[in-house]
Amino acid sequence: MEYVIGIDIGTGSVKAVAVDLKGTSFAESQQLYGFNSPQPGYHEQDPELIWAAFSASIKGIIHKVKTQPLTVGLSSAMHSLIAVDEDCRPLAPMMTWADNRSSSIAKRLRATAEGMAIYKATGTPLHAMSPLCKLIWLKENDPVLFHKAYKFIGIKEFIWHKLFNEFVIDHSIASSTGLFDIVNHTWHPASLKMAGITAKLLSLPVPTGHTKKYDSNLPSGDIFAPGTPVTIAASDGCTANLGSNADKPGIAAITIGTSGAVRVASNKPLPNEAAMTFSYILDDQTYICGGPINNGGIAMQWWLKSFSGPELSATEYLDVFKQIAAIPAGSHGMVFLPYLTGERAPIWDSESCGTFFGVQLQHTRDHFSRAVLEGICFALKDVLEAVQQNSAPIIQINISGGFVKSEVWVQVLADITGKNLAVVQSEDASAVGAAFIAMKANGLISSYPAPALSSEQRYQPNPANAAIYAKNFWIYRQLYQDLKDTMHKVSAGNDQIS
Ligand code: ADP
Repeated sequence: MEYVIGIDIGTGSVKAVAVDLKGTSFAESQQLYGFNSPQPGYHEQDPELIWAAFSASIKGIIHKVKTQPLTVGLSSAMHSLIAVDEDCRPLAPMMTWADNRSSSIAKRLRATAEGMAIYKATGTPLHAMSPLCKLIWLKENDPVLFHKAYKFIGIKEFIWHKLFNEFVIDHSIASSTGLFDIVNHTWHPASLKMAGITAKLLSLPVPTGHTKKYDSNLPSGDIFAPGTPVTIAASDGCTANLGSNADKPGIAAITIGTSGAVRVASNKPLPNEAAMTFSYILDDQTYICGGPINNGGIAMQWWLKSFSGPELSATEYLDVFKQIAAIPAGSHGMVFLPYLTGERAPIWDSESCGTFFGVQLQHTRDHFSRAVLEGICFALKDVLEAVQQNSAPIIQINISGGFVKSEVWVQVLADITGKNLAVVQSEDASAVGAAFIAMKANGLISSYPAPALSSEQRYQPNPANAAIYAKNFWIYRQLYQDLKDTMHKVSAGNDQIS
């Protein structure tokens, strides 16, 4: 059996997927792990545990398929930061993308012209997730660790060093650090200066097709057969677009899982200062541009848990969504801002909060449920509009994440965005995308395969609903503008309110 392994090093697990040369995945092996939060805002993981999960999931998939892979591609979560010594031993736990301790630094940078120039040059939003902000935080708050580090790396560089005993970083992960010039593909001097480091403290940037043959004499031992080519590949957002057939301009990918994101492919960066959309590198020709939202499925989960009972079974979910489907589009004028955990794109406001507006006597619990679902879709439309200001016109959106199980939710997204939607079949588009990069880098294919999209699950916008939503979307946007000062005062504490 000829196949390739795509492996996705995520925040909650490592997933290895076996993909045939037509692009179809047929087996997977997953290893889970947790995180620690020793103080509010801290989100840490042990890189050694992730390495153990990585090797176990690779061994698991090879055991399942019973043959060695032709090649392997690596996808990973972005924005992690580990201070390591010369032998790549962690000097402290890894800060993940979700670590929030540098949020005041990000806010400070967003208010300066220098900060915005760095955003434009590096394609990475100025946010606590960015390694640039994390480095500044370390410099200011933990100078001993900051000065002790031999290098600052991310989780994929840690894994790569285990495999090959060298410090390299792919252009895609580098483009999500806030430290990398996304046009010239070099470390960005102004960012390094701001972080207080030199390029010697970072890994050597290489293209996403960079491939090395596995040498079993290396300390990592027996993960693959000697000589197996391993391709470094890209970050999870970029590989997800590739694995969901959205790597060409004109097709966007929208995911609603716990959080959510809009991503489009482009042959140039698409900076947008007001909405601070990202532009990450997929390969030498392609950028993946878009924006993340904090409050995707988590907002619906919160609503249902608080007002419909704890964990819902699949049948209970069906019932809830049946009731939501019976409520007319627009929830009779009720609009929900879903900023329950603050928000990233396009408002980048960690002090924003959730709000129901337009509540009247006619509204029932099901109107509230529908308004929550509509609010999540408005948040994604808000990002989509920002992206579309510079991108090629978007004619189709390929969708994935837990929300695709609900037809009514997907139809609401079609009506609110006014776009045709197609459901992506693959369970782990990022791992599949990493496998595609490895196939191409090793000459197994000349162009990326087009993964199957479910032909029964295509949705078109309903024009009557789209007109109602256009009005509610105007209210949605206006509400945040009208309320943001009050939200900030409330967040700052009682003494601000008079
Ligand atoms: P993660 O990002 O954590 O991998 P998922 O892609 O599994 O998340 O999506 C989880 C979200 O999907 C939940 O928060 C919930 O809002 C939604 N969801 C889960 N199951 C269903 C269902 N049966 N019907 C509709 N929505 C669902």
